[in-house]
Amino acid sequence: MKRIDNRMDNQARPCTMQIDFVETADGSCLISTGKTRVICTASVEERVPPFLRGQGKGWVTAEYAMLPASTGSRKQRDGIKKDGRSVEIQRLIGRSLRQAVDMTKLGERTITLDCDVLQADGGTRTASITGAYVALVLAVDKLMKNGLLHENPIIGQIAAVSAGVVDERAMLDLCYVEDSGAEVDMNFVMNQRGEFIELQGTGEGRAFTNRELGALLAYGRKGVRTLMHSQRAALQGRGEHLLAPTRLVIASGNAHKIKELKDIFGSSYELISMKEAGFDGDIEENGTTFEQNAAIKAEAIMRETGLPVLADDSGLSVDALSGAPGVHSARYAGDHGNDEANNDLLLANMKDQQNRGCKFVCAMALALPSDQTRVVVGECAGQLLSERSGEGGFGYDPLFMYETGKTFAQMSEKQKNSISHRANAAEKMRELLYEVL
Ligand code: IMP
Repeated sequence: MKRIDNRMDNQARPCTMQIDFVETADGSCLISTGKTRVICTASVEERVPPFLRGQGKGWVTAEYAMLPASTGSRKQRDGIKKDGRSVEIQRLIGRSLRQAVDMTKLGERTITLDCDVLQADGGTRTASITGAYVALVLAVDKLMKNGLLHENPIIGQIAAVSAGVVDERAMLDLCYVEDSGAEVDMNFVMNQRGEFIELQGTGEGRAFTNRELGALLAYGRKGVRTLMHSQRAALQGRGEHLLAPTRLVIASGNAHKIKELKDIFGSSYELISMKEAGFDGDIEENGTTFEQNAAIKAEAIMRETGLPVLADDSGLSVDALSGAPGVHSARYAGDHGNDEANNDLLLANMKDQQNRGCKFVCAMALALPSDQTRVVVGECAGQLLSERSGEGGFGYDPLFMYETGKTFAQMSEKQKNSISHRANAAEKMRELLYEVL
């Protein structure tokens, strides 16, 4: 059954972020998530609160208010004394956004994030955090462009989303009607590493189970990731360069492979070799499938480095040989990586064999420090020749004939990379990365 605004349970409301909405502010963003709308501005002052004076450190703080007509019945403007809810929310916004900044690099100045709700339809505190982050980055960008800051103080990306249990169903990003009838209500504030900055979870109608908590967590993670992509898109060309790209370790030392993946995955990720990540151990690939071996490699490196790791395992699978050489592709004839001997043995084993069907397979595993390992598989089918043809490529390329009538060894690198098993797996991984990192 669809939700009241026709969404799926795991679907967030459409979110837009319009930057420079308030030109007089140092940074600003009008964030709309569904019908909830919040103007977030960042203002820089060259002073800090008394408790920080003389320490060379900066400060980030926030104020939150709702315009009188932002809710169904007119809400009185805050007087000198703010209502308790607003105080609680602005403290949450301040705490959350302070995690994005290295205060020693900000210098003795304060950035105040003002979040003013134009229209409230649920999730105003989470929208405020997500929008205020964009305003904050824009203000820092301005400080740097004006020469007032020389080193980037932004150390994290922060976004927030709500989820809850409504009518016994877990749902992402509750609108007001859902929120007001929710049995369980949660807010997730997270950083770009998928770590938690604040979790607010309340069993408003009844206590909730561990299982429900798990479902809400999964929705929260997904919602935050999507918002982080929107933040980056909103900052494109302005403050995007200030955000640390997510570091991703490639379980390989091959510069060529890393460059190829860089072209596919784009600039949101900083791809580093396992050596650069500080790993130079040996891993015993004792799995019986490509998927297992890729996961074994990725997880071993992830455990040592604490970073997300991408590993692949590939090889040739020949129909008439029940999938051989398979996971033994690199050492089919005994010596690891002896392409000549491997090809000779394969030709010998396939002598007089009519069924020449085969495929290259590539499994790519993504191991995450705070989540389960994911594996995708790419394939490329072809026919095994009875003699070598072509000078390019490596491994079994000279024996592998693609449907175009050319072997992989006769193709340019670019041609091969547009159809290969690795390219297929990498494309699937690109989509997966978008969802999980
Ligand atoms: P790896 O898992 O990527 O190291 O690949 C294992 C082995 O599979 C290689 O040593 C090759 O023998 C074979 N192989 C994997 N991909 C290809 C390819 O694109 N062309 C030819 N051989 C490949």
